[in-house]
Formats: sequence, structure tokens, C-alpha cells
Amino acid sequence: MALYPQQFIDDLKSHADIVTVIQDYVSLKKVGANYKGLCPFHGEKTPSFQVNRDKGFFHCFGCGVGGDVLKFLELHDKVGFQDAVKLLAQRFGMTLPQLEQTDDQRTNAAERETLLKIHEAAAAWFREQLASPAGARIRAQVADRGISPTTDNAMGLGFAPPARDALKQALLKQGFSQALLLRAGLLVERDDGRVIDRFRNRLMIPICRDTGSVIAFGGRAVDADQQPKYLNSPETPIYSKGRTLYGLNLSKSGIQQGGFAILVEGYFDFAQVHQAGYQSVVASCGTALTPQQAQQLRRFTSKIVLSFDPDAAGQGATAKSCEMLVAEGFDVNVATLPAGEDPDLYVRRHGRAAYGERLKESRPYLEYLLDRVAVLHDLQTDEGRVHFVSAMLPIAARIPDAAMRDRFADRIAFKARVTDEVVRAEIRRAAVQKQSTVRNRANTGFGQVTKAEKGLIWWLIHEPAPALAALADLEPIDLEGLAAREVLDLARKLNEDRGFSPSVLLERLNMVEAQLVTAVASESEPPVHDVESCAHDIRRLRLEREFAALQRSIEEAETTKSVDRETVVTRLLEERRYLMQRIAGLKFSTN
Ligand SMILES: [Zn+2]
Repeated sequence: MALYPQQFIDDLKSHADIVTVIQDYVSLKKVGANYKGLCPFHGEKTPSFQVNRDKGFFHCFGCGVGGDVLKFLELHDKVGFQDAVKLLAQRFGMTLPQLEQTDDQRTNAAERETLLKIHEAAAAWFREQLASPAGARIRAQVADRGISPTTDNAMGLGFAPPARDALKQALLKQGFSQALLLRAGLLVERDDGRVIDRFRNRLMIPICRDTGSVIAFGGRAVDADQQPKYLNSPETPIYSKGRTLYGLNLSKSGIQQGGFAILVEGYFDFAQVHQAGYQSVVASCGTALTPQQAQQLRRFTSKIVLSFDPDAAGQGATAKSCEMLVAEGFDVNVATLPAGEDPDLYVRRHGRAAYGERLKESRPYLEYLLDRVAVLHDLQTDEGRVHFVSAMLPIAARIPDAAMRDRFADRIAFKARVTDEVVRAEIRRAAVQKQSTVRNRANTGFGQVTKAEKGLIWWLIHEPAPALAALADLEPIDLEGLAAREVLDLARKLNEDRGFSPSVLLERLNMVEAQLVTAVASESEPPVHDVESCAHDIRRLRLEREFAALQRSIEEAETTKSVDRETVVTRLLEERRYLMQRIAGLKFSTN
């Protein structure tokens, strides 16, 4: 995708006063150096939403959101970055520059646009077929599933008739080429060379972007013996299964208002829950959730209630989804249903209010998991306890927040009836050690952000020059494993490319990083009074991490039976002594 030149964005942001823009939506009052108002992103009666005009950012102390003026528009109008730039330019009457596109990009953009038009036309055609006399049997099936006309309408359900190439003929007549219809995944080429409709004799469920454009279809069997039960569009230039959440187009406002998302498994679970008035529901459609899908959700919330068949909830795709969400820093709750019932069945059998109760009674996923795994082991025996603890540790290790991880490690110890304080400490330590290896993988949640990191961040926004100098003095390895590493790395990279300014930094941060940075920068006083101390402590933290790693190597070496065990251990102990001296020489200055 072509991008607006950075120069233009910089100009635009210097014209677009953040207070003026936000005042279009929120009434702000000047309080001291800042402007305050009621947060538009969560319901509140006393203002905790604050705008810093000089530094060009907003932050809410209630719900944590924050960012620059573009992030505000992205969040408020639920648009992407490029569209936020457009909106802002229009607001201030600035002419958008022509986007530089290569021939390839032009072709791709044109193709994508045609693919979207094809899907729009196909969805309309499927819908006509459902309304036609031939669709009567399918309409009856939809009604039998308890789907109201309103829900049917919102989901845009349709019908692909049994004929071999009815859709193909209809769309060719509308002027689309066979090649592009193939590319859209709506046709398939048979071995004998014949090109026919992919979806035949199926109830059609359009899959949309969160903006509402149809980009793919799910097709459900309508006869008892028809295989497969679900047939979906293949990956195409406009559709990637792993990046799409079903229903987000209908539920994004509901999610933002409710402050959480309900995650269900299938299209019909979605239909019933949505119809019951819980409009913050989305569906994963059977497979384990990907981090990209989690990112989609994070734009609107970081709280998720999973509502799945209880038999599925501890295992397979669901368990993977839960663990990934926990590792991505989401608050995950599980709402359990009676065995054998999914949300679709449950809402139809027991009604809206009963389902609401289930949601209310939902429990944190980790608690739920603890109980579930505990019953699989005999905690009366040592062996059972060991197995239980080792089953839970990898899960504990993936929790990004250190305090939460510690608490969970304690819960594991409690559940395993480990009362010995030494063993409890051991469990906590094991959870933390694993964390250090997990952390390097795309980790978007924040662990414990140290005071030194916060100090550097504060100075980067309020007085960049000394902070950048201190940052440039640190070695890349000093930042490894730090909770705010991505932010500091980004600042350093921008600085090396001579492109650092607080405004550009804020612009490039993702949602979660922006929350951290604006929370720190909103403090009127720096958390650490000089940047040198911050850098100093970050160096010391690195030595401490090395020390911990060395300690582990020593413990390992001591238990091996190799012939040179003695020499290895002696060398490691020597290294350790040296490291201890260096650490002793670097006193903490910020804590
Ligand atoms: Zn808020």
C-alpha cells in the first residue's frame, strides 16, 4: 500500500492542534497545563481523560487509552492510520499529496478493488436466491434455527443453489471476467478443465472486514449427508483467514461500549448471542485464534469472555486461543455452559437472561484452568503434585505481567498443597525463568516496566536530547528482555535515522505501547530525575539478568556427570564472582 510521505504527516500534525481536534468530540476544560474532559472511550462521571497540547498526546487515567491526534481519530472513528490522516487533512483543509504508486501497486490495488466488487455482487446474488421460491426450504431451515429476520438481514445470509454454475453465469453477465472470479475463490477449476461454482447447495454466510465490505464466504451444508459441513473461501488477495474475525463489523461499537468482547466459536453461536442483545460478540470460526486476530480485537478492547462448549474449553483450539490471549496480555474470562451445549443451543433453550447470568458468572481463564487440570491429577501423591505443577508452569511462564505471574505461581503452589515456602519460591522462579525465553517472541503485553525504563520514556517525550544521548550510549543487549524494549528500540532507531521527535515516536507506537508511553508522559514530574541514572540502572539490570543465567548454568553443571564437571563449575563460579563485583560496583540509583 502506498503511504503518505512523513513530511506531509509532520506538517499536518503541526497544523492540527490536538485540543481543537478532540474538542470536536469531547468538551475539554483547561486545568493547569493540561486539558481535561470525560473520556469518550469508557463511561465515566468524573473526568480522567487528559490532553497535553504542547506534547500532542491524550491519555485516559481511567481506561488507559492514549496516543497522538491520529491515534485518537483511529480509535474514535474506528478507522485505519491512512484514513485518520485523510480525516485530519480534511478537517484542516490541507490537500492530500498524490500517493506515489508503482505499476505493480496500481495493478494490485485495481485488482483488490475488483475482487471486493465481485464479493459485493455475489453476496447480493446469494441473497436474492434465498428470497426466491427456490430458497424456501433454506429460509425454513434458517427460521428453524431460531434466527430472526433482523439477524438474517444483519448477517446478510444467502443461498447458493445446487446448479453447477449459476453464480458464474450471473456474474459473467455483470461483466466480471472468469479469471477474476477464479481469483476471488468463487469458482473452481475441475480436473477436466471445466470451471464451476465453488459453493453449490449451501447456506451462504458473508465474511466481512470490520468496515463491512464482504471479503469471503462461509458455506454451510443444507442436506444431512452433505460434506463437508462447512466450506469456506480460500485465501485470496483480499482475504486471510488468520487475520479475520467473524462479526467484528457488526460488533465493534458494542465491544467498545461494553468494554469487552464475547468470543464464540461458530456463525450460529454468533447469530444467537447477537440476537439476544449481546452485541459485543465475535466468532473465531473453529480454528485457534491467531495473534493477528488478537490484534484486531485489541483495537477495541483488552478484555475477552470466552463462551464455548465446556467440553472444548480446556483443550485443542480453544485452549490454544486462551493461552495465546493470556500471553498477549488480554484479560481472559471463561463462561462455562452445561456439558454438550454451545451458545447457540443454550440461548435458544434457556433464553437471554440465563445466558447473561453465565456471562456474569464467568471466571478468569487461569483459575478455570487450574481447577480443570487439578482434577486430572492425584494431588494426594507426590508424583501427582509434580505432574500437576509441571503441567501448569509453562502456562504461568507465558503471563506477561510479572505481578500476575507471581500470583498465579502462588495459586499453583496452593492448589498442589505445597506449603513449603522454599518450594513456592522455586515455582515462582521457574515461571520467571521460562518467561525470559518466551518474552522474545512477539510479545505485545507488558511485563514489569522498571522505573528506569519509565524515566527514559518520560524524558524522551519531555526533553528528548539528553534521553536520546543516554539511549545511544546503551548497547542493544542492555535493552534485551526489558518490558519497554520495543519502545526504546523504536526511539533509538528513529534517532539513528535522524527522524526522532516525540510526535513521530507516538505516531509509530501500537495501541498498547502508546498506552504505556502516554501514561508515563502524563506525569507532571519525571519518575527519575536524571537520564544518566536511568541508563545506569538499565545496565545494572542487564548484569543481573546475566547473573541469573549464570546461576542456572552452575546449577545445571553441578548435576551433570561429565568428567570435566569440576573444571566447568570452577570456571562458572569464577565468572560469577567477577560479575558479582561488577554488580556491587553499580549501585541502584533510582529505587
Ligand atoms: Zn477512558
